[in-house]
Amino acid sequence: MSISLQHCREMDTADPLARYRDAFALPERIVYLDGNSLGALPKQAEQRVRDVMARQWGQDLIKSWNLHDWIGAPQRVGAKIARLIGAQPHEVVVADSTSLNVFKALDAVLRLRPDRHIILSDDGNFPTDLYMAQGLAKLLGAKHELKIVSSDQITASLTKDVAVLMLTEVDYRTGQLHDMAALTKAAHDTGALTLWDLAHSAGAFPVDLNGCGADFAVGCGYKYLNGGPGAPAFIFVAERWHERAEQPLFGWMGHDAPFAFDLDYRPRPGIDRFLVGTPPILSLTALEAGLDLFADVELGSLRRKSGALGDLFIALVEQELPDSGLVLASPRSAAERGSQVSFRHPEGYPIMQALIARGVIGDFRAPDILRFGFAPLYVSFVDIWDAVAQLKAVMAGMEWQRPEFRRRAAVT
Ligand SMILES: *Cc1c(COP(=O)(O)O)cnc(C)c1O
Repeated sequence: MSISLQHCREMDTADPLARYRDAFALPERIVYLDGNSLGALPKQAEQRVRDVMARQWGQDLIKSWNLHDWIGAPQRVGAKIARLIGAQPHEVVVADSTSLNVFKALDAVLRLRPDRHIILSDDGNFPTDLYMAQGLAKLLGAKHELKIVSSDQITASLTKDVAVLMLTEVDYRTGQLHDMAALTKAAHDTGALTLWDLAHSAGAFPVDLNGCGADFAVGCGYKYLNGGPGAPAFIFVAERWHERAEQPLFGWMGHDAPFAFDLDYRPRPGIDRFLVGTPPILSLTALEAGLDLFADVELGSLRRKSGALGDLFIALVEQELPDSGLVLASPRSAAERGSQVSFRHPEGYPIMQALIARGVIGDFRAPDILRFGFAPLYVSFVDIWDAVAQLKAVMAGMEWQRPEFRRRAAVT
């Protein structure tokens, strides 16, 4: 039986998350399927940033560090992320960028496994994570080796010299979801620790870090958490490592007594030692507004909707564009996917540009991947219908052949 627009409308009517869409300032006539790269703007983020600028910064000036608890923002916002990722509130802080947090967490992990020298990752990991590992290994005097294997070789590669298994839970190109519980157990069975990157997980579906026994994790504030461009990232350290974990960037915000101005570094107890410098209050304000939208979201409904949006997208592309040459690059089963669906096509770049010109925003990842992300708080089932209808028009009219769609911009 074929899927109709009416069917999509009924899915929206039955959607318990449909009411959150109005909390976002989405432009009219745009279908936004790129929340996996930059989340949409929560309306209350705009208001709160304006208030922090005008009233707190403008009027209360430096008193605001205490008066408005600016100083507590990294922990306060971290605790709001904790619920989404299966962590305790005191196991997460917001700080720095994801790249920097990979560096800090990875160095901390390596110190906990000093007799092992391999950092194991897979070729689906996001390059910045691999680059940070390469840079850290070089800094540590080339005693460590970053070993990159294909994802089906991970378990077999967990030898006794692996210090840490470092993976991104969702492959940024294909959306393939790693089995965090099984891989964490496999790593622990060989004596290795784990570092998970949740950039494409947090806010898209519930993660259960402590249920899986994860050791360290990092993640991104500007994707499914809707914290705004360049929003600060987060870092998780399991409580059992809090006393022994030490990170390499000794900043004053990680000092036990930052305002004692001691000449020697002394790490603060707990997760706080993973802070480095002064927190970016304007960015944290926007991120906190995005997170507050999740406060009463039942997390299971996030997972169900993200799976259903992806399933619908795959089914509609196959129904409406059977001979388009688009090849599914993501797992067909929602249980094995994050919150995105990708298709391969040799003309992927200009096809995506033509689609964006028609108001459907996804993105392209080299060499041939068209990527569509489904943020469950604001993407509707009718959006999926509209997106596929526009994709059909692009393909039918061969619009992607136009020269303006072939010019590559700096950011794809
Ligand atoms: C988006 C993303 C990052 C981004 O890192 P930044 O330091 O914020 O630029 C890192 N890792 C993964 C897996 C990502 O998807």
